[in-house]
Amino acid sequence: MEKRAFLTKEQADSICKDFPTPFHIYDEKGLKDNARAVREAFAWNKGFKEYFAVKATPNPFIMKIFQESGCGFDCSSLTELMLCEAINATGDQIMFSANDVPIEEFQKAYELGGIINLDDITHIDVLEQAIGCIPETISCRYNPGGVYQVANDIMDNPQDAKYGMTKEQLFEAYRILKSKGAKHFGLHSFLVSNTVTNDYYPALARTLFTLAVEIMHDTGCRIDFINLSGGVGIAYRPDQTPNDIHIIGEGVRKAYEEILIPEGLDDISIYTEMGRFMTGPYGALITTAIHEKHTYKEYIGVDACAANLMRPAMYGAYHHITVLGKEDAPCDHTYDIVGSLCENNDKFAIDRALPEISKGDLLFIHDTGAHGFAMGYNYNGRLRSSEILLKENGSPQLIRRAETPKDYFSTFDCFDEFKGLLD
Ligand SMILES: *Cc1c(COP(=O)(O)O)cnc(C)c1O
Repeated sequence: MEKRAFLTKEQADSICKDFPTPFHIYDEKGLKDNARAVREAFAWNKGFKEYFAVKATPNPFIMKIFQESGCGFDCSSLTELMLCEAINATGDQIMFSANDVPIEEFQKAYELGGIINLDDITHIDVLEQAIGCIPETISCRYNPGGVYQVANDIMDNPQDAKYGMTKEQLFEAYRILKSKGAKHFGLHSFLVSNTVTNDYYPALARTLFTLAVEIMHDTGCRIDFINLSGGVGIAYRPDQTPNDIHIIGEGVRKAYEEILIPEGLDDISIYTEMGRFMTGPYGALITTAIHEKHTYKEYIGVDACAANLMRPAMYGAYHHITVLGKEDAPCDHTYDIVGSLCENNDKFAIDRALPEISKGDLLFIHDTGAHGFAMGYNYNGRLRSSEILLKENGSPQLIRRAETPKDYFSTFDCFDEFKGLLD
């Protein structure tokens, strides 16, 4: 499928007058339309709720858009919980999926009334010590081990993943939790990331629905909600077919009707914790070409670097690039698009066919809305960029300013010489 930028060159030029590149920009209309599509796809399930995975795009303005669409939030750290608190998302609006977290974070999640999803059987004791009781509503995370296949395709190796409990531990955990007074039980599992297929959620749903029936028969615990977690992917590459959330929702419904309803489990709520699917395509990194270099290859240097978008450097991930204003020009040049880090993996694209790029051109790096800005870092003393929301009415709103050297040095408040420089 052809990938079009959600921003024209004229719009980008006008935004850049007020906000210098690089910046991440998010498309409010795209975010809202997609959130509505998710809601509609699962409307058949009365208790359905999407808990947006905060780590994908930890920005309170973006979170508020989802809050207004009826979403809750999936957190796994203190600061993610604090973001929820800041926008008044508390109680069952919070899912706290904790792995290897310090005790204070359980306390904070409980204080906010969030639902706690236990990653490990030993966390039952840790939680009890942390908060002095076992909450009435509690969830457990399952790891089936082995390799995970959907329709004969090996999708991932849960046996190598640090998350979740074995089946034996899971059953034992429900028995213990019940004996300690828990009343409402959840079942959670996250097996594969970025699945570009409509079959992943329905297949996972079948696994978890069957398990919920077994749990009921074996432990007497009736599961109240099943959390399919994240992992629904997006089409980063133009040759991929994007997932269709309506087909996915129908696939889960079919499994629900076949497995749960005959067992009388007709009131189990379906939860999701999508991050990438909620924001990925609706964010872009806008960066200016500032340098051309010809050696053994053709390089275009831009004013963003891997510190602003780590996925290509870290995973070799593909991010499509549109040269704004040259959308329909022939891609008759081959470039490496690079940033300024003193690290040779700081490349947004390698041997990419693109139109001829001149200094000053604006590049639209697609699909940075999830795990983009969020994975940013400060290597080489590079600073985090601003984030901008392209409102439905077409106007830009600054939703996070760019870092300045003062921010970067702010943790040296123990170093007197900086004080004068930074005041
Ligand atoms: C990362 C994560 C998600 C979101 O994953 P996506 O691939 O972005 O959908 C959801 N739940 C948990 C527990 C996670 O760690």
